[in-house]
Amino acid sequence: MATATQNAPAQTGTPQYDAVVIGAGVAGLYQTYRLNEAGFTVKAFEAGSNVGGTWYWNRYPGARFDSEAEIYQYWFSKDMYAQWKPTERFPAQPETEKWLNHVADLHDLRKHYTFSTRVTVAHYDEANKLWTISTDKGETVTARFFISCAGMLSAPLENRFPGQDTFKGRIFYTARWPKDEIDWTGKTVGVVGTGATGIQVIQTIAPKVGKLKAFVRTPQYIIPMNNPKYSEADWNKKVEGFEDLKKRVQSTFSGFEYDFANGSWHDKTPAERRAIYEHYWKDGSLALWLSAFPEVFTDEAASADISEFVREKMRERLNNDPYLCEKLIPKPSDYGFGTHRVPLESKYLEAYLRPNVEIVDCRESAIERVLPNGVQMKDGTVHEVDILVLATGFDAGSGALSRIDVRGRGGRSLKEDWGRDIRTAMGVGVHGYPNLFTTGVPLAPSAALCNMTTCLQQQVDWISDCMIRLRDKGVTEIEATKAFEDAWVQHHDETANATLIVKTDSWYMGSNVEGKPRRLLSYCGGVGTYRGKCDEVAAKDYEGFAMS
Ligand code: NAP
Repeated sequence: MATATQNAPAQTGTPQYDAVVIGAGVAGLYQTYRLNEAGFTVKAFEAGSNVGGTWYWNRYPGARFDSEAEIYQYWFSKDMYAQWKPTERFPAQPETEKWLNHVADLHDLRKHYTFSTRVTVAHYDEANKLWTISTDKGETVTARFFISCAGMLSAPLENRFPGQDTFKGRIFYTARWPKDEIDWTGKTVGVVGTGATGIQVIQTIAPKVGKLKAFVRTPQYIIPMNNPKYSEADWNKKVEGFEDLKKRVQSTFSGFEYDFANGSWHDKTPAERRAIYEHYWKDGSLALWLSAFPEVFTDEAASADISEFVREKMRERLNNDPYLCEKLIPKPSDYGFGTHRVPLESKYLEAYLRPNVEIVDCRESAIERVLPNGVQMKDGTVHEVDILVLATGFDAGSGALSRIDVRGRGGRSLKEDWGRDIRTAMGVGVHGYPNLFTTGVPLAPSAALCNMTTCLQQQVDWISDCMIRLRDKGVTEIEATKAFEDAWVQHHDETANATLIVKTDSWYMGSNVEGKPRRLLSYCGGVGTYRGKCDEVAAKDYEGFAMS
């Protein structure tokens, strides 16, 4: 590896680069940084015209993250941590995009990247133990290792409705939001989707548009966001806690600062449980979901109890309006609180109290097609709109890599393999695909159930340390064994099947994509547990991975 020669002709036994990295988001930037620091040659590609990943593409109105700024962070430089100075607890997209640009500048990471370029093909050359990687711009390079930092929510579901190309107004995908300002004044706007994204769009544009038609299919449990401003002094205090926080997030269940700390739900009286729920509700973070009680994820009674608490809060905010409560609050028979992603929101429910906001119930009648002037439902009703916003979700976890022609041993296709059964070796590799390293793919916490910066950095560190070890040993090929992958898949499934999450349809289970094999995308044994297992594999010199 150390002998790799940059810009050598493709298709020789010596690759041009030690590694090709896809993506310039949180994971890709850090991966590129780590490899460069370790003396590897890196070539990185990014489909966007600049760095940012999620924070480049999802520039829709109201976009912001649900992780506190003090933990949605890189941990490799306290100086850099001190420099960002977020202005609020949950900063909006422009601030995060700016921060990632700052990180790229600070470490001169752009020099490794070719932007506005999508990797389309990655084939493993078994004879030479290298990857040949081609892009939509016609470039082909070779590398010993192919590292995907392509994102777990980066493959938007497009063209879901027939007739979209006939629409006379503008259609916006939230995950492909344009950079120009949109003039909403006096416009009738349709928003399809009420996941975390649709909710942020609806609550943000409702006061700006002439009329808003929200196409609601599955109502959401929500938690109101408490988003105080951060002063410089506030941030300086956070910086003082840098080392403790860094250590803390690596060991909790979800990679956040908080963790389950209230004992068992069963040991509490109803009044004690209620007090705990109220405490977290007021905190206005995901702590109600990710730290109240572990049984919320596993026990029907606990799930029903907390779900009813949230429903009650939602009813109050909807002024107990029977119509709005019926349309916007999940029923006990629908699914339990937290069995899919719980969004934080800011006056989302109150948006529906406005006279210019109308609910279109997609359960009563589904969307049939898009017409030049609006959206037609199955029952024939036409909703005329000037602008259509599609917040309809992603082919999560496996989508980004499946959209590339990735071929491993014997020409086997990752798209076909994952089309039958989505399997990975601890989310960092796939049997049959030597020298492929992955982040944010299924069967690791980074696929969904995690503060993303915590989990992505952990995987990048594991991959980087592994590559350093291989270089030290003079090894040029590594591949998860079938036995190791089988054991991981089995452990993952046993962990998943002990939860209520597997009973609920959502992108967590892949059920939002027609034909996608059903499996919980995220490993839900806990971030700290996962890290421990990864560290153990490394400590045993990558036990479960064959090297040559
Ligand atoms: P999503 O959660 O998959 O939501 C997609 C929405 O589109 C759902 O409401 C879905 O309804 C609806 N939909 C899809 N097809 C439809 C159809 N044919 N007719 C009517 N409705 C349809 O996607 P997302 O909102 O983009 O969120 C994905 C994830 O991104 C989140 O769960 C979160 O992890 C992340 N995210 C995070 C933040 C944040 O940190 N604040 C913000 C945005 C996104 P059904 O549920 O009925 O299928």
